[in-house]
Amino acid sequence: MTKFVFVTGGVSSSLGKGLTASSLGRLLKSRGLKVTMCKLDPYLNVDPGTMNPGEHGEVFVTDDGGETDLDLGHYERFIDESLSKISNTTTGSIYSNVIAKERRGDYLGKTVQVIPHVTDEIKDRIRRQGTLGADVVIVEIGGTVGDIEIVPFIEAIRQFRRDAGRDNVCYVHLTLVPYLAPSGEQKTKPTQHSVTELRGRGVQPDVIVCRSDQPISDSLKRKISLLCDVPVNAVISAVDEPSIYDIPITLHHEGLDTIVCNTVGIDLDDHPIDLSSWRSVVERVHTTTRSVRIGIVGKYVTMPDAYLSVAEAVRHAGFAVGARTELEWLEAERVPTEIGTDRLSALDGIIVPGGFGERGIEGMIATARIAREGEIPYLGICLGMQIQVIEYARHVLGLSDAQSTEFTHATSAPVISLLAEQMDVTDLGGTMRLGAWPAMLAEGSVVASLYGTTVVSERHRHRYEFNARYREQFEAAGLRCSGASPDGRLVEFVEMPAHPFFVGTQAHPEFKSRPDRPHPLFLGLIKAADQRAEGREPHLIDPSTVGLAR
Ligand code: GLN
Repeated sequence: MTKFVFVTGGVSSSLGKGLTASSLGRLLKSRGLKVTMCKLDPYLNVDPGTMNPGEHGEVFVTDDGGETDLDLGHYERFIDESLSKISNTTTGSIYSNVIAKERRGDYLGKTVQVIPHVTDEIKDRIRRQGTLGADVVIVEIGGTVGDIEIVPFIEAIRQFRRDAGRDNVCYVHLTLVPYLAPSGEQKTKPTQHSVTELRGRGVQPDVIVCRSDQPISDSLKRKISLLCDVPVNAVISAVDEPSIYDIPITLHHEGLDTIVCNTVGIDLDDHPIDLSSWRSVVERVHTTTRSVRIGIVGKYVTMPDAYLSVAEAVRHAGFAVGARTELEWLEAERVPTEIGTDRLSALDGIIVPGGFGERGIEGMIATARIAREGEIPYLGICLGMQIQVIEYARHVLGLSDAQSTEFTHATSAPVISLLAEQMDVTDLGGTMRLGAWPAMLAEGSVVASLYGTTVVSERHRHRYEFNARYREQFEAAGLRCSGASPDGRLVEFVEMPAHPFFVGTQAHPEFKSRPDRPHPLFLGLIKAADQRAEGREPHLIDPSTVGLAR
């Protein structure tokens, strides 16, 4: 029988519910259990695909082309399983299904209501996760108890325990225990209120995870236990950690996986924990001996969550080479006027990540030029590759008005355009290329040697493509198209062999990086950056700061 663990949050958003759920997933997986995870988001968008990354953070793309919440990125990185579009459900998608069913007459003339129709739809989505062959399904509920939109979800998970059986369900509730400086005390009142709210909806938590900046003392745990009616060992202290990758270890020491297993009847002796591989990741996180500076030049840099997977992928590669990666978030619009060649040249590597829309484009093109001419390692991701191509066309091929038709049609050199435009089709459609697409890499290319193979699969999320009409011109001028779709039509990778590292990919490799398996392209960038950093002061890390990996 599949076990279900529901993770809810109270008091405040951004407490790290996704990381707590992911860490639990890692712990259960380390006990030899097959784990899958999903997220139920109470907002009304059908999926996060249309949401502004500057507000909501990155859109995480799954192999099957799901545009999902960024927490799915944490899940994949922590449990190392590929998730799918059905791993993320929103109120919008629930309602659109319910309304479609109503229009089809599936409800046989009944009045369609939140209970039972919407809650049944939510429960169906949860149950579907249980058919995927996992021993444990961890379900994170977005938002916080007390939100208006969350009510049907809490009601659905309350009913779920009745449906699935008491012993098959565990409720984990995450709260905040703030420290109030004037009284010099940690306060439990917000936790009590939040648990009261949850119980008011009929859900009694089995485990309470308390986020705080200092450990929760035993006496405070006893107080929370008494007031919230959970055993003392089910009150888990989750303090801020220097690195997110420390969290599973801490939560294991606090006994989170033990209490969850006990609640759902998983025999701990049958499933002893083996955290050795995760511990070796954590060890690498904390044993960096030198630093590399990586600049991320993009549009949403004031909201680094917009590039969460990129940042994590950089860190993973850093762990592998033993380097602490210092990220500099640089606003593309400020290049080159406020952020000029000097500032960019002081970096060891540059990434221009994905993005949509015109803002900052010229700054990104200037960045790519500085990186190319200054031999600064550069990785172009999706839009970042398109930028590389436009820059090369303008300044090496001499096509001075080269552009992507995303930004203007008034160009004599549309080096990036919609596939339909390249084929002179008038119906331009508007569909995105989403999810995993295979690519063939050229023998002997930089990318083939990085990947160690010539057949790869990467996730995509874009509309515009390299215009194959210019391919020969680019290649003759030193920008190699080193990877393409199997039919050869779509250019997937470009590189400049006569440069320390100047690689672009039309895909989003960041989604497939794992803490213990860095992505080859990021590894290539960081190795090149590490080489550039050598000889720069201060390149070696002051040993007293080692351990602060983030
Ligand atoms: N805006 C570009 C396109 O649609 C790039 C998208 C991206 O970087 N994800 O092709």
